[in-house]
Order: sequence, then structure tokens, then C-alpha cells
Amino acid sequence: MKSQLPCPDCRTSISFDVSMLLSGTAFSCPCCELSFSLDPSSKPQLSKAVEGFAELKRLNHEAKHSSASVMGG
Ligand SMILES: [Zn+2]
Repeated sequence: MKSQLPCPDCRTSISFDVSMLLSGTAFSCPCCELSFSLDPSSKPQLSKAVEGFAELKRLNHEAKHSSASVMGG
């Protein structure tokens, strides 16, 4: 899942992959080369948010699938 964050130093948009960030990858600003990585203390909240998003997508997919079979049946 790609995401973007404004650089805290120069405000350039830094694109990063949330799952890579969660796995400990550090990303750097293309403009000023400031690097950022996930603060271990914020990891539980962020991974919860990512899990919540994936769960929402799955439920949405299942809802579509079951309504289609009801309509077809
Ligand atoms: Zn920057």
C-alpha cells in the first residue's frame, strides 16, 4: 500500500510503502535526504490501522460476493 507524507523539513512529498515501513525499511526525502523510519513506539497503532484497512477491504469483497450469489440464486 503506497502512501505519501510531506517531508517535515522541506515539505516535499515522500512516497513510501506502508508495509515496507512496518517491516522496518527506512525511507528518505528525495530533496533533502532526510531519512525516516517507523518509531517502534508507534508501530502497534500503525499496524492496527493497516490491519483494519485490510479487514475492511476483505469484508467489502465478501459482501459483494455474497450479494451476487443471492441475486444469482
Ligand atoms: Zn525533505
